[in-house]
Amino acid sequence: MTVPYLLTPGPLTISRETKEAMLRDWGSWDADFNAITGRIRARLVAIVHGEETHECVPMQGSGTFSVEAAIGTLVPRQGGHLLVPQNGAYCQRIARMARILGLTVTTIDYAEDAPMVAADIDRVLSADPSITHVAVVHCETSAGILNPLDAIAGVVERHGRGLIIDAMSSFGALEIDARKIRFDAVIAASGKCLEGPPGMGFVIARRQALEAAKDNCHSLALDLYDQWVYMQKTTQWRYTPPTHVVAAFDCAIEQYLAEGGRAARGARYAANCRTLIDGMARLGLKSFLAPEVQAPIIVTFHAPSSPNYEFKRFYNAVKARGYILYPGKLTTLETFRVGCMGQLGERGIAGAVDAVEAVISTL
Ligand SMILES: *Cc1c(COP(=O)(O)O)cnc(C)c1O
Repeated sequence: MTVPYLLTPGPLTISRETKEAMLRDWGSWDADFNAITGRIRARLVAIVHGEETHECVPMQGSGTFSVEAAIGTLVPRQGGHLLVPQNGAYCQRIARMARILGLTVTTIDYAEDAPMVAADIDRVLSADPSITHVAVVHCETSAGILNPLDAIAGVVERHGRGLIIDAMSSFGALEIDARKIRFDAVIAASGKCLEGPPGMGFVIARRQALEAAKDNCHSLALDLYDQWVYMQKTTQWRYTPPTHVVAAFDCAIEQYLAEGGRAARGARYAANCRTLIDGMARLGLKSFLAPEVQAPIIVTFHAPSSPNYEFKRFYNAVKARGYILYPGKLTTLETFRVGCMGQLGERGIAGAVDAVEAVISTL
């Protein structure tokens, strides 16, 4: 059986080498395993140039667990007030979890095809000095939109508030530089642009913000401060680590660095994105976002106009040709999504466009 390529925003198709790194068992107390954890942490901090200022704290679970750990640990339980500009489902998820944590939440609402505007955040922060932190999604994976991170970070810094960045679908491919922008936390996970298997996330936290967060977290398991202190002291994870995932993630990061790091990964995804949008346009399929706000990560397309189109059937037919698409996540329009990430083999994105073409011709 041939396994279809995943054109999704994670989990995604990982290399054979990365998969093979999971064939060996590791003891969580073992020094060789803990050396792997240490190497991953150091390399992840270096990707955002945070060696002087930041600490990498890994966390078990999917990406959302790390987002919840960062917000729960770094935003004060007493008096914490989070501003969440939102233009998609991942922003809404942050606002929802912050409310569950009992924080005061203010939102700025945008349409799903509109990037956040730094001046709006500036205005809200000026008007409300009780806001302690701003949480922003870098690439909103719902529609695939890129938010203006550097401009937003400048505004948040000028107001002296904390910035928490959900960079889940951009970390490692798009630039985030701790020497240029100030942030309390950048959050991402193993199974996105770094092309590891899913199963662990990580937070790159500003050391001072982390040090100030002792005893703040609402949760035992998601307490980043505790995880950090324990890891510094013992080199071990606080509770059972996803050992196979950690070993494979280390292998994936090794390949990432060999490929040329962030610049090369970002360029490969950007080329994938262009091939995809151009190829689909030839088939008459239009992308949803304006090109200037499209992140080179995942693309939302309007569904084919044929009255015979139905996503599930379309999906199954494209899958039979070797590619797994992703449903749309827009509330009002019929769309589907195609990811630009992962190890897409020799035929790459062009092969996926051919598969879609063959299926569309039967509609
Ligand atoms: C993938 C993703 C997450 C995390 O989702 P999980 O399903 O928990 O892995 C969070 N934010 C963004 C922007 C994402 O793309």
